[in-house]
Amino acid sequence: MLRAMTDARSSPGLHLRSIAYEGLAPGPRLIILGAVHGNETCGTFAIERVVRDIDDGKIAIRAGSVTLVPVANPLAFARRSRTGERNLNRNLFPRDAPVDFEDRIANRLCPLLARHDVLLDLHSTRGRTEPFALVGPRDNDGPLQPFRHANEERALATRLGVRRFVHGWLDTYAQGVERRLREGRATASNSDPRYGIGTTEYMRSVGGYAITLECGQHEDPAAVEVAYRAIRNALAHLGVVDDAPPPEITQYEALRLRDVVDRADADDRFEREWASFDPLAKGELIRRGRRPRSPRRRRQGRRAGRMRPHSACA
Ligand SMILES: [Zn+2]
Repeated sequence: MLRAMTDARSSPGLHLRSIAYEGLAPGPRLIILGAVHGNETCGTFAIERVVRDIDDGKIAIRAGSVTLVPVANPLAFARRSRTGERNLNRNLFPRDAPVDFEDRIANRLCPLLARHDVLLDLHSTRGRTEPFALVGPRDNDGPLQPFRHANEERALATRLGVRRFVHGWLDTYAQGVERRLREGRATASNSDPRYGIGTTEYMRSVGGYAITLECGQHEDPAAVEVAYRAIRNALAHLGVVDDAPPPEITQYEALRLRDVVDRADADDRFEREWASFDPLAKGELIRRGRRPRSPRRRRQGRRAGRMRPHSACA
């Protein structure tokens, strides 16, 4: 930790860079993030291309504003890794006493998010999978994630150019945290009820709405195109630019996250290399491993009903 903190202070470029454009007419305030995970660079490349397009006069910002953050986690980006000292996209909230690099980023990023109405957060996945958008809950007054912009959020999601939508992130993670606590496997970092709160959940908690877009595989150049198209579509849909509004996707696949299963033991192994949302037959084996809840049932495989495995990037 000490060495990492020293690196964070002494390495050049470890600041949070944002580029903001203000239209001269009133409108929504959009913020777009790249590289919340440092090895997920499609958003970074797409954002830099949009910045060039705006500066070259190819895109005119007319109304509201757009703020572009090419690299949300500069330490992870510099290391070409998912995380710096921890996952920026968990436990994301401002702290009076930051202890690690991501805490210090959060203390800059959270107030920046709070000054906006809409977030588009651009990610990529380890495995090859069709691009998909993670959306938040329906409007509700519940204790976990009260929300009142579901219609606007889903309207934007269906105009980004992807055909797969996934929901149920925060309540599924809250269940996972509950199970960790019940089974005595919780650690200080993963037992906080706020564990599942990342950029989009934080954005909703401060009154905005937000979409995580998984643009494709980390190394796939097509993911940059997906990210770029999503930014252009978001700008047009929200009226920040004068381009024709993108068409709504009407034929799509909606999936719900159902369960979080921790790797409880170093011997836990997936039965095969899964890609996110691979379809499963009833009874098909997902992984082999120890089940810590029941010592008598050690070495038992975990079987699923109508689930689809998802090694979450977000
Ligand atoms: Zn990610």
